[in-house]
Amino acid sequence: MKKTLLIILSLYVLAGHSALFAASDPIEVIYEINVKNYQDDLFHVTVYTEGLKEENNIYNLPATVPGTYSNLNFGRFVQDFKAYDKNGNEIKAEKISTNQWKIENANNVAMLKYKVEDTFDTEIPDQKVIPMAGTGINDDFIVLNTFAVLGYFEGLQTIPVKVKIDYRSDWTLGTSLTYDGSGYYIAESYDQLADSPILMGLLSTASTTVNDINVGVYVYAPDTSINAKKIMKVADEVLQSSAEFIGYSPVTNYNFLMCFLDQQSFMANGFMGAGALEHSYSSLFVYPAFGNYAAGVKDDMAHEFLHILTPLNLHSEIIEPFNFVVPTASEHIWLYEGVTEWGSDIMQMRSGLISVDEYFKKLSDKITISDGFRNDISLTELSESVYNEAITMEFINFYNKGAVTATLLDIRLLELSDGERGLREVFLELLERYGKYKSFSEDEFFKIFVESTYPEIEDFINNYIKGTKPLPYKEYVAMLGYNYIAERISEDKRPQLGLQIGMNDKQELVLAGVTDDMRKAGLQKGDAIYKILGEEVTIQSANAILPKISSLSVGDSVEIIVKRDGVEIPAKLTMKQRMDRHIFEEMSDLTEDQKNLRDAWTKNL
Ligand SMILES: [Zn+2]
Repeated sequence: MKKTLLIILSLYVLAGHSALFAASDPIEVIYEINVKNYQDDLFHVTVYTEGLKEENNIYNLPATVPGTYSNLNFGRFVQDFKAYDKNGNEIKAEKISTNQWKIENANNVAMLKYKVEDTFDTEIPDQKVIPMAGTGINDDFIVLNTFAVLGYFEGLQTIPVKVKIDYRSDWTLGTSLTYDGSGYYIAESYDQLADSPILMGLLSTASTTVNDINVGVYVYAPDTSINAKKIMKVADEVLQSSAEFIGYSPVTNYNFLMCFLDQQSFMANGFMGAGALEHSYSSLFVYPAFGNYAAGVKDDMAHEFLHILTPLNLHSEIIEPFNFVVPTASEHIWLYEGVTEWGSDIMQMRSGLISVDEYFKKLSDKITISDGFRNDISLTELSESVYNEAITMEFINFYNKGAVTATLLDIRLLELSDGERGLREVFLELLERYGKYKSFSEDEFFKIFVESTYPEIEDFINNYIKGTKPLPYKEYVAMLGYNYIAERISEDKRPQLGLQIGMNDKQELVLAGVTDDMRKAGLQKGDAIYKILGEEVTIQSANAILPKISSLSVGDSVEIIVKRDGVEIPAKLTMKQRMDRHIFEEMSDLTEDQKNLRDAWTKNL
């Protein structure tokens, strides 16, 4: 009975859709996502299609998506995948890999139906999807990354598509997709659809125009202390600053979609990290509504917006057109993430949002964080092995070492050009030469970069981007009239153990970085932290145990037990005098050259 009813309903719905297919387009794809009755924690997806050919017989969900540089395998979350012909008869659809379904007689397919579990609270182990690339169904909001739920038929990644979302009538929906006025959002291709996340729920909203860009802010937050109006103030500053850096308005509209969650939700979903993911006309944030989130929001808004430059408008042929099926690495993440992160800091300094001292403090923090990562792997090597699970945790270093490398590249370019042309200027020239639809050659890019700058830059690339030579902070900041001090005793007298704690994709607390002392004590990066001071450490207990370490004295010994491949490994560490590291201090007497170079460095030329 139920099945019969389903078919009748399907036929009815299908009849309604036939009129939507324009006669001129032989193949059409229309998606419907129903989350009206979201209590079952599932996205109910229907895909209507007409005119498929035999070669379009595979339906693909992404193995990875732009900007995440990780294996996500969204096919894992799909349930009850079924295909039907126009008479409502089921057509055989076989799952042939984690993310692919092969459909028999594809030319008869009129409809696909399947359900998708949300990634936030999934029980599927391993490869936890980072929240800003995932999906979350909750009582008051839904985070919907379209690529996590919708796929494309083989060979049809570039055809126009439509999508209808059935959601609660009292909710607000935020997206950069264009609404066609008749119930559908339209996209010129699957790529554009995938590039357009959706946030819906009980949201606060605000809009304004900044330098010809229509800006929308959509915010879900557990209480009204965080709201769209407040966020818009930050967005306004960030966009003014980036407009000065870019020199023109790169888009006509842009939306910040932001989902703030309380600590309990973070813990319940096993999120240790959060952040944002960039898109061409929006960025999606999943962010803590606790702790010192405000400073992070500003920096991340700057970072995500600047991604409009790279990789969105300056990228290698490897990532555009994007291969959703086979994760394929480009060696230029130093550019996509490192230069973007550098730009988002330096543009704030150059527009006066932060002082030069604050800029150096950020630089110092980045160097300190990068100390916890491997120094025997170059930025290009890290790029190329980014989909290798063993390297995943090293990825964070692009935001640190990558950005610091870009800082030095900028100084070197300014020096070589007598303060005429820094990294920003070279970067903007390259953007003009390439753009959204013109990729650069993966293998030729460094050569092109050297040709459009100075022969000396080849050494810089070989030493510090392709190579692993220690970065020459001291020598470079001296050109700006700054001293670099590697380490000195801190004025903060509290002792420290120096643990850097992160989380792996099994939601275990792990050593995210190890110092030389820890290495000597037998610890390795990635070891799961089992016990400290005899107490078992979990996400829940960590907040109670870690302050006990701070109350110890210099020289006290701390026993830590980690687990590596299930084996318990005990280690003894010693509480140390707190040290300040990577300090930048202004020199007292500057030469004319230093004055001039600093002057150029603090400006968008
Ligand atoms: Zn980024």
